Amino acid sequence: MKKWVMLFISVFILFGTIRPVNAEEEKLMRVHFIDVGQADSILIQTPKHKNILIDGGDKPSGPKLVQYLKSHGVVTLDAIIVTHPHHDHIGSIPEILYNFKVKSFYMPNLNIKTHAFGRLNKALKEEEVMVFKAKAGDKIEVEPKIWVKIIAPLKGRYDMLNDYSYVLKLVHKENTFLLMADAGEQSETALLSNDVNVKADIIKIGHHGADTGSTLPFLKRVDPDAAIISVGRHNRYGFPTRAVINRLKYLKIPTYRTDLLGTIVAISDGKRVLFTYEDDKNTLGVHAPYFDPFGL
Ligand SMILES: [Zn+2]
Repeated sequence: MKKWVMLFISVFILFGTIRPVNAEEEKLMRVHFIDVGQADSILIQTPKHKNILIDGGDKPSGPKLVQYLKSHGVVTLDAIIVTHPHHDHIGSIPEILYNFKVKSFYMPNLNIKTHAFGRLNKALKEEEVMVFKAKAGDKIEVEPKIWVKIIAPLKGRYDMLNDYSYVLKLVHKENTFLLMADAGEQSETALLSNDVNVKADIIKIGHHGADTGSTLPFLKRVDPDAAIISVGRHNRYGFPTRAVINRLKYLKIPTYRTDLLGTIVAISDGKRVLFTYEDDKNTLGVHAPYFDPFGL
């Protein structure tokens, strides 16, 4: 069944003030696509107050990320999932480990010799965190009717480390989020040729909107109602690329970008997904989108 996505236009004051106030609110899951510049960091907050962090931005985002989590009531992280060991995904994880109790930690079985990866391993050792080297097929049951499943990388050899990124499916009742991390064309092709079900309501576009992925056949198969791109303002890579934006536009997929909107929060009640975001500069009313969703 085709689900639908409703835009919820908020002013900045409203953002961050949405808190559980009644029984209905208690049923909501929030997925925060945190503005960490040219990087990725996603916080999932569940109705039963579980907190899961997927990736932790680059190192300079550490203080902001710690503050963001604290201001959203996070004391304990039930899980951290690191999608792959590049600095723009793990750079601030040490600060997170030093500031929060972390119950479980998942990352792929990859080793690279970088300063960021060295810092991460040092922090994991110091904080005595047990690391589970999860792989495709593993599923994290978060609470009844909410789960995260690793669907990639599938077996095979890939040319780029990015294609060894975890691709995650987050499911809350009828709503599905596909979180691509930095996976690109080779991982997408493997998912399609192995007939993995990638259909989702919301997609977090791979690799900050780079043309290394988000191929047309893949986006068609996902068939999302909305897309999120986590990307830095005026980044030196030119992300998101015109090619990816054009594909999203061609498929009429409304696209929300952290470089234009700041932190974006998708609020799921299990059937619908509403979006709210940080950097509203205008004050038009609800259901009156003032921005070009494609950012063109
Ligand atoms: Zn990245």
